[in-house]
Amino acid sequence: MRFISATAALLLAGTASALAAQPAGPATPEGPLPASITSNLPRNARPLHYRIDVHPDARKLTFTGTESVTLKVYEPSSALTLNANELSIASAKLVPASGKGTAMSLTATIDAAAQQVRFAAPQPIAPGTYRLDVVYSGKINTQANGLFALDYPDKRTGKTVRSLFTQFEAPDGRRFAPEFDEPAYKATFELSAVVPADQMAVSNTPIVRSVPEGAGLKHVYFAQTPKMSSYLLFFGTGDFERIAKRAPDGVEAGIIAPAGSGEEGRFALDSMADLLAYYDGYFGEKFPLSKLDNIAGPGQSQFFAAMENWGAIFTFNRYLLVDPAITSAVQKQTIYADQAHEMAHQWFGDLVTMDWWDDIWLNEGFASWMETKATDHFHPEWFPLLDRVDGRERAMALDSFKTTHPIVQHIRTVEEIDQAFDAITYAKGEAILSMLEGYAGADTWQKGIRAYIAAHKYGNAKTDDLWHAVEAAGVPELTTIAHDFTNQPGIPLVKAEATCSNGQTTLALSQGEFSQDRTEDAAAHPQHWHVPLVIEGAGPQPVRTVLDGSASLTFSGCGPLIVNGGQLGYFRTLYTPAMLQQLRTAMPQLRPIDQIGLVRDTLSLATAGYQPGAPAFDLLQAIPANANPVVAQNAVNRWSGLYDVLQSDADRAALEATLRKLWLPRLEALGFDPRPDEQLVDTNLRSTLIATLGKMGDATVLDQARTRFARLRTNPHALDGPLKTTWLNIVARNATPADWRLLQTLSQQTKSPAERATYQELLGAARDRTLAQMALDYALTGKAGTTSSSIVTKVAEGNPELAYDFTIAHRAKVESLVDDSGRSTFYRRLVGASVDPAMIGKLETLRATLPADQQRPIDQAIAALKERLQSYPRLRNDLHAWLAAR
Ligand SMILES: [Zn+2]
Repeated sequence: MRFISATAALLLAGTASALAAQPAGPATPEGPLPASITSNLPRNARPLHYRIDVHPDARKLTFTGTESVTLKVYEPSSALTLNANELSIASAKLVPASGKGTAMSLTATIDAAAQQVRFAAPQPIAPGTYRLDVVYSGKINTQANGLFALDYPDKRTGKTVRSLFTQFEAPDGRRFAPEFDEPAYKATFELSAVVPADQMAVSNTPIVRSVPEGAGLKHVYFAQTPKMSSYLLFFGTGDFERIAKRAPDGVEAGIIAPAGSGEEGRFALDSMADLLAYYDGYFGEKFPLSKLDNIAGPGQSQFFAAMENWGAIFTFNRYLLVDPAITSAVQKQTIYADQAHEMAHQWFGDLVTMDWWDDIWLNEGFASWMETKATDHFHPEWFPLLDRVDGRERAMALDSFKTTHPIVQHIRTVEEIDQAFDAITYAKGEAILSMLEGYAGADTWQKGIRAYIAAHKYGNAKTDDLWHAVEAAGVPELTTIAHDFTNQPGIPLVKAEATCSNGQTTLALSQGEFSQDRTEDAAAHPQHWHVPLVIEGAGPQPVRTVLDGSASLTFSGCGPLIVNGGQLGYFRTLYTPAMLQQLRTAMPQLRPIDQIGLVRDTLSLATAGYQPGAPAFDLLQAIPANANPVVAQNAVNRWSGLYDVLQSDADRAALEATLRKLWLPRLEALGFDPRPDEQLVDTNLRSTLIATLGKMGDATVLDQARTRFARLRTNPHALDGPLKTTWLNIVARNATPADWRLLQTLSQQTKSPAERATYQELLGAARDRTLAQMALDYALTGKAGTTSSSIVTKVAEGNPELAYDFTIAHRAKVESLVDDSGRSTFYRRLVGASVDPAMIGKLETLRATLPADQQRPIDQAIAALKERLQSYPRLRNDLHAWLAAR
């Protein structure tokens, strides 16, 4: 799954031919689930095969189902317990799988809180193989949980139409059919459905049979899946178009989109075909299904962008389709990365699945790491490896508080599963894997990965299985380092002190712990890590070592030293002022990744009070004017984040002047409009420069934005192109009532789901409180669709207190617009930009209304807010002094 990361308050801190022969397993040994694997179900039975038939009624938002589960019972049992959520059971019976013997009627009892259904037998069930037949009904949701509906404008007619999709991760397969809905219970699935005859139905496998059903309906039957976890099943039906091509490995790649949008999937389709061959090679295991589709859902979620259903990826429109009218350059890169991520899951997650949700990072950290690696392989001109620093900083923004958790964490409840999809699981997971790959060497690492996949395919695994595979490939000490970074939370702080005498540098290193809210405790009793270091600058070759406590190293020469060369180490480095001074002088000659990494590291250390601000601002200022476009964009974003901290007009003017002096020439060189054949990274840099100058109130940029926006009054296509959202954002932020009404009219007039979503969200961007309030009210009218909570989160970026108070006042209504999986983190997102001390009390009041397993995101929000209240004044003072000295 690709989750939606929370808004950071401060910028400091992606109908086929016949089925190929499919292996059905077995890698998971037969027998009851072992006690070593967590489960909330009794261990008396295991499913082997599901036959599920559904009849959705899209208009009434209900469906009926019949299911036959072939299962093995291992001990004399009075009942069988499966998962079920919001299902009504009409009848259930147990039939011996041999067909001999009589059927046994079962009595179903629902336990709603446990999301389970217990089928009690009139007499003991003897061990053996059976078929459990269930007739049931369920509901179609309007948010992405279980079987759900999306309403959207038909791009050809503008009429509102409805399509159906499913979303089962983490535990929502149980909303579709009674299932052993835990990842270790792998089984084969055969799905069929009754759908409108003029619609396209899609699932994990191709359709093998389609039979007219009368009354404008047809019955479609999908081929049997390989052995897989229940959360990977997919079903969708609607007025779709499919474009397809054969990948080099013979697999049919397809993009399925709402009718009228088909060609918008061309970029994704071409990427998918190339990526299939690349992953086949990397994993040493050919993609095991005959086809891979990626299905575009016209809507959005507060929780996720895309989902890796095996052979049938689901992706919300804007993360899959390139709409030339509005898709920005950065969005195009996101589309690529998202698809690379979900495709990596086809192996890491689908073919090999974690035993239990404790190890969800194995899926998500790995797919995040792999997406960057694959993007770098095909699009080095986007410099995707430079984004590894951003990922590290996203992870550390959560990991530097007491409320963090280890990558591998013990999970029991559904709520805890949903919360596990966070920056620790994804971004810290990616960072640690990058560090360990760097430590092991890319080839040895890949050898280990291949061995791991081969050993566990069609089965399950845990984190240590991966470490052991890489160790066996030739990195014997890997597990020690890996355990330090995955089994304990937090961030190592490496203190570096270089002294020079007689042309020789002595580098004293010691390991502490970096924290934003337990600074004293972290200093007195730091956790211990084995930290892999790559020390650069001391000679032609970097010096590699593992820091175990403290160390002293000697180098010839007295030049600048980088302790985290290449920036793949997951730690912060506290340099002495003299070392920082040397790095500042050397900045123009440093590698792009080190330029970004050093600036981010020192700014974070300054924000947390570990060092003064000035040396960090000096490093930021030292990034050369001709820097790599991604580095330049990063620098401009840092200035933008610092600007947000300031309050005095004089300081803001001074910072704007600094930014203009450093970076306006680059914008002038790029020009205001995209040039044919320019690199995507240049389009991105231009967008960032325009957005930042616009935010700071630059008269030329504001004037450009208004003039361009005014053309929309007579021509809705006047702004089409990769900079459309950039200009619209500037106008929306500074909107007048007339601007706001035009945005609203445009959102209602467009036939493009992508444009509609964008215009709607922008209504919430207005800094003017009256307009922001109008946006909030509009979100609840129903006119903005069922996923209009994105308007509320947009308001929260500029008016967090207003958005929060509104949500609390209309809690039930706003929550109904958020998918269940995203609810617990929704409030954290709302207050991510707040610096109002009164918000702490409000959050504490909210927390008191929540069950214990939903409180952590609120605790995290409070901790981050307290930290902003502490660090912003300090940063403000430091910046004031630094600006005054220019
Ligand atoms: Zn994922």
